[in-house]
Formats: sequence, structure tokens, C-alpha cells
Amino acid sequence: MALKFKVFAGSQNLRYGLSSKADGPMKLGRTAAQNRKSYLLRRKIGNFVMAEIIHGCKIAAISLGRNGQVAKGVDGLVTKSKKLGLLVTVADCFPVYAYDPVKQAVGLAHAGWRGTAKGIAHKLVRTMAIKFQSKPADLLIAIGPGIQQHHFEVSANVAKKFHYAKRAKNKYLVDLPKELKRQLIDAGVPKNRLELATGCTYCLTKKYYSYRRDRPKQVQAMLAFIQLL
Ligand SMILES: [Zn+2]
Repeated sequence: MALKFKVFAGSQNLRYGLSSKADGPMKLGRTAAQNRKSYLLRRKIGNFVMAEIIHGCKIAAISLGRNGQVAKGVDGLVTKSKKLGLLVTVADCFPVYAYDPVKQAVGLAHAGWRGTAKGIAHKLVRTMAIKFQSKPADLLIAIGPGIQQHHFEVSANVAKKFHYAKRAKNKYLVDLPKELKRQLIDAGVPKNRLELATGCTYCLTKKYYSYRRDRPKQVQAMLAFIQLL
């Protein structure tokens, strides 16, 4: 079943999605190029820009002129260009989908623990405000599936970067979606315009790749997209 968010239900000009295992691995690089190509074709995304994904927190504003390119050094993209798909890959990390129905702008970010610790969700809202004058109160934001707290074990050193970490024996469990939600609320996005998917990529073995579960030699990831019509 395709990914569906209630917050986007009335948004006629918006398309978004997340590939699943059935679509094949999507990580940037030549080996997954054919998988990406056929997925984008099936989803009718002719123009697109892909974020490089470096576990940082830079977000680039792009337009149709960059069609087909990889935006280097960024983990998120924003645009006002219609029919331009924004793409990020995820495998346990969370895709954060943003839509401004007033200014007609979209954004998409990849949020792993490093990006989350650096405030990437907050940065996404700020970037849309700076580039497109989006008011945080107008945004609709959905956080897709990813590795949920019960499966996201980290060391004490990583845990101390977060507000939502609980002790489990000699490890810590971090709630990344909750961290992201907190950043979005701090940035001014109203609670009732936010939605968090509950799916855990680690648990949903048939549906999603999970870096933590599979430990593959080569990262196998899903492709997330958002697009204005
Ligand atoms: Zn799980």
C-alpha cells in the first residue's frame, strides 16, 4: 500500500511517496540507477533533483534548471518549481515531507541521527521561510517511516545529543521522530499540521530496507519523493 498521510489528504497539487523493497535498492550510484529510473517512470516523475545525502543538515533551494542533477553536499531540497520531483534516499533514516499550500512550495529532507542532532527539521522550516517566505504556521509536514525508538540503540555518547533517549540495560534508545517533531514545533509548525508515520523500517522486513537490520556491504535504500503539480 502506498504511503498516505492525513495531513496531505486535501492537497490536490501535491504528490509524494516512498519506494519499498519491491522497487529494489535506490541508493545513489550506478548499480541502482535502473531501479530509480523505472520507479520514477512508474510514478510519472519526469524531472527531478536528488540530494547527495551526507548526514549533514544543509538544504538547497532548487528550480527546474537543475533537472537531472545531484545536489552535492546536502540532505534536503526545497522548491517552488512545479513538476520537479525532489528526491532523497533513506534506510532507517526518516524522510521529512513539507508542503506550503499558501506559497505553493515543497521540501524534503533526509533525517538520520546525525542530521537530527544538527537540527535538520528546524532547518527545513527555516529554509522554506527564507527562500519562499513560507510561514511555519502554514506548513503541513509529515515524517515518514524509519527506525523507531524500540529498535534504535545507541551509545551514551550519541544519546546525550537528544532529548528523547531512554536507558535500556547498558544502551540507550532514541526516539528520532519525536526529536524531529520537537524541532518542527519549535520552528513554529502547529501540532495539528504535523503527522508521524508509525512504521518501523527494522520491523517491516518485507516492505523496507533497514541498515541496522540488514547490515549490507552496500547500503540498500528506499527513495522518497515530493512533487508539486
Ligand atoms: Zn522496530
